[in-house]
Amino acid sequence: PVRVRMAPSPTGSPHVGLARTALFNWAFARHHGGTFVFRIEDTDKERNTEESYLGLVEVMRWLKLDWDEGVEVGGPHGPYKQSERTDIYADVLAKLRASSYTYDCYCTGEEPQARRKAAGSKVMGYDGFCRDLTDEQVAAFKAEGRQAVVRFRMPDGEIKFNDLVRGEIAFQTEFVPDFALARANGDPLYTLTAPVDDATMQISHVLRGEDLLSSTPRQIALFEGLKEIGLTDFTPEFGHLPYVMGEGNKKLSKRDPEANLLGYRDAGFLPEGLLNYLALLGWSLSGDRDVFTLDELVEAFDIADVQPNPARFDLKKAEAINADHMRMLTLEDLTSRVLPFLKAEGVVSDPLNDADAQMLELAMPLVAERMNKLTEAPALLGFLFADEASLERVDALGEADKPVVEASLAAMEALETWSTAEIEAGLRAALIDGLGLKPRKAFGPVRIAISGRKVSPPLFESMELLGRERSLTRLRDALA
Ligand code: GLU
Repeated sequence: PVRVRMAPSPTGSPHVGLARTALFNWAFARHHGGTFVFRIEDTDKERNTEESYLGLVEVMRWLKLDWDEGVEVGGPHGPYKQSERTDIYADVLAKLRASSYTYDCYCTGEEPQARRKAAGSKVMGYDGFCRDLTDEQVAAFKAEGRQAVVRFRMPDGEIKFNDLVRGEIAFQTEFVPDFALARANGDPLYTLTAPVDDATMQISHVLRGEDLLSSTPRQIALFEGLKEIGLTDFTPEFGHLPYVMGEGNKKLSKRDPEANLLGYRDAGFLPEGLLNYLALLGWSLSGDRDVFTLDELVEAFDIADVQPNPARFDLKKAEAINADHMRMLTLEDLTSRVLPFLKAEGVVSDPLNDADAQMLELAMPLVAERMNKLTEAPALLGFLFADEASLERVDALGEADKPVVEASLAAMEALETWSTAEIEAGLRAALIDGLGLKPRKAFGPVRIAISGRKVSPPLFESMELLGRERSLTRLRDALA
């Protein structure tokens, strides 16, 4: 069965690369009817924060990338935080230590590199010095008070695997030094914890960022040891997703503002819009279709279609795709999504009262096609909810506009019925026929008087919604 996972470390705020990795794992699991596991790599006590952990959970929930097993939801292979799995790692470490796959190493910081240098070797990292120590050497190191670390013995030759994204990859193990599995005090390291989790959680495919490619030969080698001690009976397949590049073709870093995922939520992106864009960072549905639903993504997703070359993050494109998803929502859905933004800005009452609910229902059709992000709703709709005394006038009327508003006021006062059609006819007669103005010059000042802004939903409809008294008051107030 297909079992995939995402395994972020809770440091900093959740970023774009992480969501792309989550999305591809999720889509792969859903496409194959498999299981998506969400676990946390929090062995680095100094850098982990609870806040960062909560941010990860929040972002996954906002994106609706639901996980079948993992933190918060539990499952048969828990716990799903490494900090709660210390006993598991200690047990595995003891078993590996008793096997031929590891050895105790007494070297300290500088020694291996100094030996390599003396021998004229250009290879970096540990040199295997402690691989075959005699009992006397061990005794001597202990007598010096040295602490041993458990080091994994890399096999000789080549480690080859078929990367699901990149095809066949081979590492010469002479360039992959023997590595420590835990600190001298017994704290397990990533080199141990990630493969042990993958083994115990029976992960079938490891799909993760290209930055982790260099650790893959070590993990594949370690799996042989994990099989030997009976922890699992297979090695997962691996696929490494392309880097995401930002401005100036530099790798998008966690610290770049456009990398911050919760920033997209706060900026009014729809989760499905952002996910659609993130999918394009390495994958596409078909050559000519950038916009698709999550169902379509799941249906078509094939890891073999992911491109290995770096993907470029393009905020403009992300916004354009989000705008398309805004237009794909039903009116009802769109309304429920803008509501929190309207409440947060104090545009509507919270909880929503009947009057505001009714106005919202009538107003949404006017703006549904005009929004690219949810955050645009308060500015577009605010004037319909504001009372006349506190209407925010963002754009001011010019002196030359006043006669236009005066003529409008007279025409509107004379209207028999207050309807969109009558309002339009009355204003056209007064301003275009009467004052001889072009439509833009005619209606611009009226728009400012009514909405307080140069840009608003359709004017005549808005005036109908506001009603006669409120519209007339606004025209008068604008002249005052
Ligand atoms: N904790 C790693 C990260 O946040 C992921 C490790 C893995 O996927 O194997 O980059």
